[in-house]
Amino acid sequence: MRKIYTVLFFYILFISSVFSQKRIVFIGVDGLGSRILKKANTPVWDSLATMGSYSYNVNAVLPTLSNPNWASLLMGVSTKDHQIKDNKWRKSDFKDHFFCNQEKGNTVPTIFKVMRDRYPDENIVVFHEWKEFTELIEFNTLTYSYHEKGSGLILKASDYIIKEKPLLTFIHLDLVDKAGHTYGYRSNQYKTAVERADSLTGVILEKMREGNALDSTIFIITSDHGFNGKGHGGRSKKLREVPLILAGVGIPVGLRLPDRLHNYDLPVTLASILNCTIPGCWKGEVIKALMELPDNKNKLQ
Ligand SMILES: [Zn+2]
Repeated sequence: MRKIYTVLFFYILFISSVFSQKRIVFIGVDGLGSRILKKANTPVWDSLATMGSYSYNVNAVLPTLSNPNWASLLMGVSTKDHQIKDNKWRKSDFKDHFFCNQEKGNTVPTIFKVMRDRYPDENIVVFHEWKEFTELIEFNTLTYSYHEKGSGLILKASDYIIKEKPLLTFIHLDLVDKAGHTYGYRSNQYKTAVERADSLTGVILEKMREGNALDSTIFIITSDHGFNGKGHGGRSKKLREVPLILAGVGIPVGLRLPDRLHNYDLPVTLASILNCTIPGCWKGEVIKALMELPDNKNKLQ
């Protein structure tokens, strides 16, 4: 019964979203390497993958730490180009450096800045459990950012999405990374945290459905790195392989994406989907398989 309900739910999501403006809900689950998904029970993400496009071997950049990888997922380049090499990086470290015509203190333009330049009046927002996350984002770019640890963050984000219908909502969840560091990859607690992150995604979807806010939304689920024991930072496959799931308006259904995409292909692809100008210094490539719909409905109308 639950399965029928889930399929029906996503079918309604898909049909209702074809006809109006596209919006993005991007859920970044810190510390979610792909290999745990073989063990954990994640029905919401599985349904999104079935109704959308997916890969479980997207390559994280080195070192497999949070800051370098969130930077790449936002900035369209690898560590060599954004130069954010650890979690201690702060804007003030680059106060005398210029990158890509940005103001001093920033590195490469983020997807937030690229979208802000294209859509000056739209809501572009971040809800984050990791306090330092917004350090990566240019000043005066976000409409709103909110920090809270725990499930209250999801409820706040859901309410905001329903009320304000942001063009881009980025939600950073930290519970999986926290469980990995505390209990280790092999622990029940790590697996449970992964399952909890999946069910929190379900909460957002359900609340948006109740609030009639699913129209034209693209959901994205991805991560920065996996785990090895109680840590990460090295080069192994278990640390580098992360999932990428996209589902919603214009996203091909049931498409397995090409192997070994770079995580920094994602912002380039999003910029293309939303008709933004792709910065000349970005090095990722548009994921072409996502753009090959004959009726081109995956463009913002
Ligand atoms: Zn970590």
